[in-house]
Amino acid sequence: MIDFWDKQIERADQLASGPSGSKELLTFYAQLLRAQKRIYVALGSHADSSKSGELEQDLAVLRPALTTLLETVALHAPEALRLEAEVLLNADRNVIDKTLLEYWRDPSDIQFFAKAILQPYARWLAQSGVSPTGREPAGGERTCPYCGGKPQVSYLQNKEASSESGNRDLICAMCLSSWEFRRVVCADCGEERPAKLGYFHSPEFDHIRIEACDTCKHYIKGVDLTRLGHAAPLVDEIYSAPLDLWAREHGYSKIELNLIGL
Ligand SMILES: [Zn+2]
Ligand SMILES: [Zn+2]
Repeated sequence: MIDFWDKQIERADQLASGPSGSKELLTFYAQLLRAQKRIYVALGSHADSSKSGELEQDLAVLRPALTTLLETVALHAPEALRLEAEVLLNADRNVIDKTLLEYWRDPSDIQFFAKAILQPYARWLAQSGVSPTGREPAGGERTCPYCGGKPQVSYLQNKEASSESGNRDLICAMCLSSWEFRRVVCADCGEERPAKLGYFHSPEFDHIRIEACDTCKHYIKGVDLTRLGHAAPLVDEIYSAPLDLWAREHGYSKIELNLIGL
């Protein structure tokens, strides 16, 4: 289970050390992933019965671990976030509790700290088979069947040796689990007419594309693991930040902003 975090960290380090226009974002994200892994590991070190899936109760376990995440952000983040982290580090613990509880019930992709802290918590619950209370799935295929989160990124991979075109999965923005999704469908509104769905890609990011919908004007990025097997969809999604600028300029909004805010 920790392998997941190590894989993300390794990929972020690798991309941050290469010739990328998103070097600073990736360097910060690599540190953030390390802090998220620490939260995940700290949760795992307690007896399983100590987590109920009810965030209000589980805050006692989560609280000591989240300080290191705030410290990481205070050290490595862009200035605006850095200042916010310092405020939270000095804030009354009720302030942080309230922020987390609000996000848990009604998530918003511009709530950076709550999302960063609750991703490893939600992932821990998902991996441990503990049902998240207050996060019941809305049903339907376009939100996470486990926690009801929105899709952060889509990816293609060959699940069977015989499969040539690859299966499509979505990764949940909250618990980071994957679920299967049909290939030619908008992940936001369910549009299926091929004429309404556009795929855009730039030679700079050969294994990544923008999957856009002209009905709801939303997009998500797709990472093609059949082209680049060692890519990590969450990290490569951030690496390809220029594609977000392109999509925005063409009038599309992202279904869920990533942790870097793009
Ligand atoms: Zn989820
Ligand atoms: Zn749509």
